[in-house]
Amino acid sequence: MAPSRALIFLGPPGAGKGTQAKLAAQKYGLAHLSTGDMFRDAIRRGTPLGKKVQPILASGALVPDELVMGMVEERLTQSDCARGFIFDGFPRTLPQAAQLDALLDAKGYGNPLVIEFCVSPEKLLRRLAGRWSCPLCGTIYNEFNAPPKIAGVCDRDGAALAQRPDDRFEVVKDRLAAYERQTLPLSDYYRRRGVLEVIDAGQAVEEVGRQLDSVLRCADGADGRL
Ligand SMILES: [Zn+2]
Repeated sequence: MAPSRALIFLGPPGAGKGTQAKLAAQKYGLAHLSTGDMFRDAIRRGTPLGKKVQPILASGALVPDELVMGMVEERLTQSDCARGFIFDGFPRTLPQAAQLDALLDAKGYGNPLVIEFCVSPEKLLRRLAGRWSCPLCGTIYNEFNAPPKIAGVCDRDGAALAQRPDDRFEVVKDRLAAYERQTLPLSDYYRRRGVLEVIDAGQAVEEVGRQLDSVLRCADGADGRL
């Protein structure tokens, strides 16, 4: 069997990297890893790290890097990671990226393959700030891509549609700006290391999936992994 592969998906909220990570994980038999899931799982199982992380999360503070890295190291020993894994939304900072590199090296994975899902800010704003949902049946609409027949009204039951506070225009703009500040240095870091591949994630899900497949196949051809 091919040696296992470490993949990292970078991309702003609304770029669809979570969806692609889930699809690729199924297709290639990889584990789909997010630090949020790891924290919740460790807390549920009552592990020593879980006990340390719980009060920090409850207070709304950021979890210190050494705890995050401890959690990641522990997670990689689980059996579903044997063929490889996709980090979705991790690392978030340069120190985390450097520590992850050291960890992957120490575990014999070598360089990760980093895939950045790029979408223009205008498109992201439309995707994220255009979202409305029905409080009765839960149907999600998008005023740009999937509008209801009558603006502000659910097609199925006529209820008035509502917008989550997170999906309001100004809030979305702030979230995207925060993402850029935090993550641009990361893509620079991985580009300089020569392990970054960029995907145009402004397309439909199927098309983005095709681009991802071809990047993964190329990587396969280059070094016989995956
Ligand atoms: Zn409805």
